[in-house]
Amino acid sequence: MHLSTMKKCPQCPGKVLSPVVTQGQILDTCDLCHGLWFEVGQLEGTWQDAHGHLPPGRAILEQIHSAWGDPLTERDNLLNCPDCDIPMKRYHLSPKFQLELNRCSTCQGVWVEDSQRCATFYAPKVRAALTEINKPANWRTFFFQLLTRLPVEFNMKPRKKPWVNWGLIFINILVFILVLLEPNLYLAAGMIPAHLTQGQGLLTLITYQFQHADFMHLFGNMFFLYLVGDNLEDVLGHANYLLIYLISGIVAGICQWMIDPNSVIPVVGASGSIAALFGMYLLWFRRARLTFMIIIYQVKVALWIFFLIWTVYQVIDMVLAVEGVAYMAHLGGLAFGLLVGWLGYNWVLRQNPILAHLNGPLARGKTL
Ligand SMILES: [Zn+2]
Ligand SMILES: [Zn+2]
Repeated sequence: MHLSTMKKCPQCPGKVLSPVVTQGQILDTCDLCHGLWFEVGQLEGTWQDAHGHLPPGRAILEQIHSAWGDPLTERDNLLNCPDCDIPMKRYHLSPKFQLELNRCSTCQGVWVEDSQRCATFYAPKVRAALTEINKPANWRTFFFQLLTRLPVEFNMKPRKKPWVNWGLIFINILVFILVLLEPNLYLAAGMIPAHLTQGQGLLTLITYQFQHADFMHLFGNMFFLYLVGDNLEDVLGHANYLLIYLISGIVAGICQWMIDPNSVIPVVGASGSIAALFGMYLLWFRRARLTFMIIIYQVKVALWIFFLIWTVYQVIDMVLAVEGVAYMAHLGGLAFGLLVGWLGYNWVLRQNPILAHLNGPLARGKTL
């Protein structure tokens, strides 16, 4: 290599960059600080998939590419371009994702510091997810909530098809129809605390989860299962999701049994399992928003505000002891979901880098 073609590390005096194969491209890196040098076009190459296609959110990517926007105004500590040896300018890749990159105005190469490497690779996907979350409510979401009184979800799109969640919804509807045709099934598969106390009907701790007392009970539960289940199945994986769903229902059932072990009223419904899903959803999808309607005014609120209102309703029900509501199953399920959400938080983020970046400091809308 001729000395004149050697690239100098912008951060380490006297260090020369060496070639490295990263994401299918030959880039230059510094062995000392592990920064990466992208020549013009190579950063976009990093964002292409194996077939040379750009990831979802192509329009967003073109936006990033065509409009780097204004450089940050700081004048100190500007790094020098490894090729041109003149100061580079610092840029944010997106106003909502505060990733800082150094770009040379002459050769249009980009220097990525080690701390920003991972975020840089996932930048277009994180930005696509942020765009989904930050979409404004519109007349369609307004009429949906006005007519149904149900919230509209703003969250990242799942990458996988939620087969398990669809299956659970299907079984719930099927069981509901079967019970309409053969009402005796209701008593047979509902969870009766007094029977559990006598050590009978342990299997009903599973079967009770798939039964509903009436259509509104079914409809409300299935709506919320549809809403939160797809994202949870996406980040957990199909099998883990199914397992956690069933265990949540069992734990919720046991909570209900503990508060009233001699009751002979059958407990039914997916509410306990769904309350547990709420807990995990709340802790993992921190940037997601749900709409809340105050009379006819629709607002997007943070999940914790939405679930706080929901929990207050549960507690009021408990105090008033509304007939036929297994409130302890709801609260027990929620507590279990929060526990799983807290214990599993780091594991889930390790499996889902995009979610990790969404929950991380770069996506908070302010400079570090
Ligand atoms: Zn270096
Ligand atoms: Zn340059």
